[in-house]
Amino acid sequence: MALPITKRFIAGAVCPRCGAMDKIRAWENNGIRYKECVSCDFFEQLAIEEPTASTELETRVNRKHNEPISDEIKPVRIIAPAPGKKGIH
Ligand SMILES: [Zn+2]
Repeated sequence: MALPITKRFIAGAVCPRCGAMDKIRAWENNGIRYKECVSCDFFEQLAIEEPTASTELETRVNRKHNEPISDEIKPVRIIAPAPGKKGIH
């Protein structure tokens, strides 16, 4: 019992290797998202995970057109004040 895999073109997607637009096809199988370029032999597979804080990064990248992505992923450290702070009221 095999499910048919539908490969869909991603509108506006630019291939990171050859830079061609609308040549990226994506599909999902067994919790893995695959991407391939029909213009060159670019291929990528990613585990499908819940969305994280990378949404902000994607919006920023979407604003740029035909520019190489050079953003470095930096770990975000949240410093919370220690609860139960002792002080004179
Ligand atoms: Zn390509």
